[in-house]
Amino acid sequence: MLRILPLLQPLQTLYSWCGMTHALNSGVRATDTSIALFGQPYAGLRHDFPSNLDALCERTGYQLGEARQIALHHTLLGYFLPLVDAVRADRVLSSLKEGSIPQLNMQLGITASRIGGHHPLKACRACVAVSERETGGAFWRIDHQLPSSFVCRLHGTLLAAAWDAVTPVHRRRWLLPLGEPACTWTEHAGVTNRQFHVLDRLQSDSCAFAKLPAGRLDARRLASTYRTAMCQEGMATSRGNLKLERLVRLVRGHYYGLEHLPGMQVLMSITDEWPGLAASLSRRVPRPGHPFKHLLLITCLFESWHAFLEAYDSSQETGSKHSLPTVPDPLQVQRTEFRRLVEEQHLSVRSASAQVGISTTTGVQWARQLGLAFTARPKALTRRVEAAIQRRLGRGDPVESIASAASVSVVTVRRVLGRSSETSQRRQTCVTGKKRDVARNSFSVLCSRNPGVPLSSLRSIKGNSYAWLYRNDREWLVRQLQQFGRAPRGH
Ligand SMILES: [Zn+2]
Repeated sequence: MLRILPLLQPLQTLYSWCGMTHALNSGVRATDTSIALFGQPYAGLRHDFPSNLDALCERTGYQLGEARQIALHHTLLGYFLPLVDAVRADRVLSSLKEGSIPQLNMQLGITASRIGGHHPLKACRACVAVSERETGGAFWRIDHQLPSSFVCRLHGTLLAAAWDAVTPVHRRRWLLPLGEPACTWTEHAGVTNRQFHVLDRLQSDSCAFAKLPAGRLDARRLASTYRTAMCQEGMATSRGNLKLERLVRLVRGHYYGLEHLPGMQVLMSITDEWPGLAASLSRRVPRPGHPFKHLLLITCLFESWHAFLEAYDSSQETGSKHSLPTVPDPLQVQRTEFRRLVEEQHLSVRSASAQVGISTTTGVQWARQLGLAFTARPKALTRRVEAAIQRRLGRGDPVESIASAASVSVVTVRRVLGRSSETSQRRQTCVTGKKRDVARNSFSVLCSRNPGVPLSSLRSIKGNSYAWLYRNDREWLVRQLQQFGRAPRGH
């Protein structure tokens, strides 16, 4: 059993958090820590994609949040899912909650892209120092791990790659930016101002891309968006045929000199497979492609990320009449129609579902996956269901897990919460209580483990939770310090 669980920071990767947890609960093997967290010896040691998330959530008392949120915001999955069909994305997420997927790289289109599924750990040295100072533990930032991330926008620096020379892949222990074993850093040679600017835009688009909901971008519609942009740039003949060699030249020119930057090798494959992304309308089954390739095109063809999204949303999915016939995915057509009905015709989810011939439950699921704003119709709850929801709310369980356990929408659960100020208060107390228990436990374990160590040194130990206790639980903190013969310091 792990006695200390640190807080998961907003941009921290799950992998980092596991490594920090391992360091704090020293004395066990890495695989034991992984088993304690995930019920599986290597699940916590993969730094890019997660697995066994439900087990993690249960074993940590939902302290890290909901499994889906962890996967989308603290692992690389969030970067890949916008291009994966919403239904499949949902399947991927469900599988990763319950266990793992043996062919995940294939499911995400990484294998076919030939970019490679090896994702080196990267960091900005200044950010590492900041995270060490402000959170008590240096961690890997998720926005620096994206395959198309090369710069830190905050500090205007190139990211350095960290290598563990001993066991490069499938590590048997966690590698942390400032931990042991020490990383072998590979700093990249400098780039010109223009090149930095190009990489900076790529970085900001990559972050925006990773924030899109799963299934937000469709390969066919993307191709159509690129075609329109190319025509506007004069990259089409008067008959509407695309001059693909001009696209290749454009991308090459834009990224000139960056081909040899580690991680940028994708630029070398540009000649043969690249135009496929823009021409995939002519394919019978369009391939989604790797997000990196799309991002390289997007940053070249559009003035800004906003301009790209606007062009995408106003593009016609079916493309021009001149394109070769495609085999439409029946579900895709339904989903697009569903989106149109809710977004443009302002139909309720129930009416839109009825019109496209799906159940309201599926409709609610789609609306959520597509990120559509909708108000769920109040569903008559049986007294028993409502009582169960109240009970779990009072216990501080996450809203999403209560909703899925009771088979109702998140909105319904929130409504139940809003109806009872007593439940709401109990919930608040419980959530704070859980945090407090975690913080108290971490701090007292540290105190008893480090007798005689000055408080200032204690406060520099990773995940020490002193600051939280000082703000939220000062009485206890003072008592605790007195017990150990220390006096609290002002902040
Ligand atoms: Zn930085």
